[in-house]
Amino acid sequence: MDINKIQNLKNQAISSILEAKSDRELEELRIAFLGRKGEITQLLKKIPSLNSSERKEMGQIANDVKRAVEQALADAKKAEAVKKIDIDKEWLDVTAPGKKPPLGHIHLVTETIKEITEIFTKIGFTRVAYPEVEWDWYSFGRLNMPANHPARDEWETLYIDKLKHKKYGRSVLTPHTSSGQVREMEKRKLPIRMLNIAKCYRRQSNVSHAPMFYQFETLVVDKGINVTHLKGTLDYFAQQYFGKDQKTRIRPFHFQFTEPSFEVDVTCTVCGGKGCQVCKGGWLELGGAGMVHPLVLKHGGIDPEKYSGFASGFGVERVLMMRHKIPDIRLLFGGDLRFLNQF
Ligand SMILES: [Zn+2]
Repeated sequence: MDINKIQNLKNQAISSILEAKSDRELEELRIAFLGRKGEITQLLKKIPSLNSSERKEMGQIANDVKRAVEQALADAKKAEAVKKIDIDKEWLDVTAPGKKPPLGHIHLVTETIKEITEIFTKIGFTRVAYPEVEWDWYSFGRLNMPANHPARDEWETLYIDKLKHKKYGRSVLTPHTSSGQVREMEKRKLPIRMLNIAKCYRRQSNVSHAPMFYQFETLVVDKGINVTHLKGTLDYFAQQYFGKDQKTRIRPFHFQFTEPSFEVDVTCTVCGGKGCQVCKGGWLELGGAGMVHPLVLKHGGIDPEKYSGFASGFGVERVLMMRHKIPDIRLLFGGDLRFLNQF
């Protein structure tokens, strides 16, 4: 077998490919060189019959030729395809503005948390965060609800069986932000102006309750704090968040960890206080509040003879549903863009 002959074959094949003017010509060349009876194929067929010293060298050369011709064919086909592109139809306006990728926005709940934080930090509150998996001790025990106290029933709490502590008891998914009250007092930094916004968990699910929801809790402890400070703070929040004509009203209630305790109502956002189907005589219920129970202060290491305080706890979703007149809390967690894009 002659090396020069093989090189000539390669050159001949490649120059014919370069001169080809159509797909059809290229296909004919492929058959002529690489087809079953093609010249290069025939050449390769002869390799096994060579003696062993020739076989290796010639085999390599013949395979290189085959690869080079295949590559030349592929390149020529690509070039033919490019020629077929209709330049007029493929017209591109390089000065046109680019397409903007669709941008999302912050979720309504996150936005509300941000707004509530701004409202309270303006009057000196500091936002804090406490564990989402909490001890019974902070969630109930230190809040004047010892083990087996019937008041605990209200919270429909989710317990974590595997996590128990000799002193702190069982662990829970925080059923309310009030779990942060005694933790805040234990920092030993008085006066306290705490804003605790956190996820809470309860075994509940309907149009106004979700198993996971957010609460925002205020706690103020200082010398001489009384109900007027609480009422003033509530009015301030209602006017900042719902509008300047809003009022709040407090009604006597009972919580174990405040004394006296109140339920807080705000002027109905639908009728403006005249009375309608949605409200009770012009008022909508906002949440709970009260003066910190002396025993809770004591549990937090604070002398109730010298200090007093107030606390309030409202649902983040609840206030935003009132403001935007959203009928079902589950819409907020559904991720349905038809709903979310309205805000
Ligand atoms: Zn109303």
